[in-house]
Amino acid sequence: MLADLVIKSNAVFTGDGSLPFAGGVAIKGDTILTCGNDLHLAPFIGPDTEVRDYGDKLVMPGIIDSHTHFAQGSMTTDPNFCVNLIDCTSFEQAIERVCAFADAHPDNEWILGVQIIQFQWEVPEMPTAAMIDAYISDRPVFLQQVDLHTFSANTCAMQKMGVTRDTPDPSGGKILKDENGEPTGVFSNNAASIFMDSVYNPPIERAMESFEKTVHYANSLGITSVGAVNPTFVSLENPYKVFADMNRAGRFPLRVFMYTDLFEVETMTPDEIFAKYDFPGTTIEWNGLKQFIDGVCSDHTAWMLEPYSNKPETCGEAAEEPERVRAAILKACENGMAVRIHAIGDRAIRTILDDFEEAEKLYGKQGLRHSIEHNETVQPEDLPRYARMGIAPAFQPWHMLLDMADLAKDDAVGPERAALSWPLRSMIESGANIHLGSDFPVVGIEPCEEIYGAVYRMLEDGSNPEGWFPEERITMAEALKAYTYGSAYAMGIEDRFGTLAAGKKADICVLDRNLFTCAPAEVLEMKSVLTLIGGEVVFEA
Ligand SMILES: [Zn+2]
Repeated sequence: MLADLVIKSNAVFTGDGSLPFAGGVAIKGDTILTCGNDLHLAPFIGPDTEVRDYGDKLVMPGIIDSHTHFAQGSMTTDPNFCVNLIDCTSFEQAIERVCAFADAHPDNEWILGVQIIQFQWEVPEMPTAAMIDAYISDRPVFLQQVDLHTFSANTCAMQKMGVTRDTPDPSGGKILKDENGEPTGVFSNNAASIFMDSVYNPPIERAMESFEKTVHYANSLGITSVGAVNPTFVSLENPYKVFADMNRAGRFPLRVFMYTDLFEVETMTPDEIFAKYDFPGTTIEWNGLKQFIDGVCSDHTAWMLEPYSNKPETCGEAAEEPERVRAAILKACENGMAVRIHAIGDRAIRTILDDFEEAEKLYGKQGLRHSIEHNETVQPEDLPRYARMGIAPAFQPWHMLLDMADLAKDDAVGPERAALSWPLRSMIESGANIHLGSDFPVVGIEPCEEIYGAVYRMLEDGSNPEGWFPEERITMAEALKAYTYGSAYAMGIEDRFGTLAAGKKADICVLDRNLFTCAPAEVLEMKSVLTLIGGEVVFEA
């Protein structure tokens, strides 16, 4: 059989972890015919075969970002949906940008500012309603801090959502009040939910524009598939249905593997879940369920076995009732459904491993591709349990880079437990299948930072070249394998995706540089020059 297209390069990485070689990949229709050196490719090249030679650029399987909140990420990175304030150094600078955004977007129902780092402001506090009112009082303004723990709203926004001095604090959040008992316009944690449903419910066409832009951007980075995990963090009725409708219309060239709300097993039968998320004829597929067991380390909501080093009065706590999570995991397993759980603290991780172990005892080895998300602090005795039970650890090394910058993890857990953090190398050596992703939009969707973090464990400016616990570094081949085959395996789709092998779907990217030979700083600049999904060009530089 002759190929339609052969993509050649001096650096072909197949995704299985071995080093790149000179050769190429031959494609017929949506499928890979073969991958190998020139001699191997020759019989597949006929007079009508298009042969493209990419020189020293890196040819590899399409990148599979296993953990995204793609719907919200698309909105919060769309400059027509909100204004990014991450680099502002004062309230005045931020509000000036918010005003310019408001003027440029007269039809936006909400004026939304995101990613404020108020700690780097001259006065390091989130603004009150009165401060915002002085600039914008006739339209609702809502501002989000970068880690989504503190929020500001102006008076118009509070009136719109009916917030008064009598509004009770939502569970898990606080409406800050002044000495007279009036809301100040500052909201913490889950109190933001008062606004979120309205803010993240734009007109459908506006949402579609955001999705379309983000898919194109992901394609331009070599991403061909994403895991889209619960929650979506948007209020559209069923954003996956929007993805599917757009996919059918050719406006959403991306494979999405959904992990929907685990707690739906409490109220829905498996058949009802499958029907709700069944979008035949599209690349949007339901794959399993996802929930949380704890929070994050930075605000001491990750659930630890021992107290925090910088807050000895707490070990954190479970974010969801552990018994509820356990029951839901067992029910999912009973029905043959794969489960992914966010677990950051060592107690959270052990609890979930125990739950999976119980499921294994009850239902036997089912071969379900369960995953634990984040795995920030893992006790050594728990490490071998992943491989033994076939549970894939998901890592997002950009989170590690963020904590590395101000030694947040070191401060929170102390030196002994810091050494157990983000154990990528130890996991690989234990035999576990690690997979990589971004957790977009907690950080950007760019794979370069995740790869850089996994391989070098040093700051982006190279200022700590000896690395942070460098014994947990992994090789470039291991990192790229984790971002392709590893993610595919963790999501149970490795029969179709994740490597350049005969019979697999032609999801391929050509990166603009060879990551195996370029300097660390250059890894951070990587982009795709050609991205194919099922043999079709979805991006070309
Ligand atoms: Zn997440």
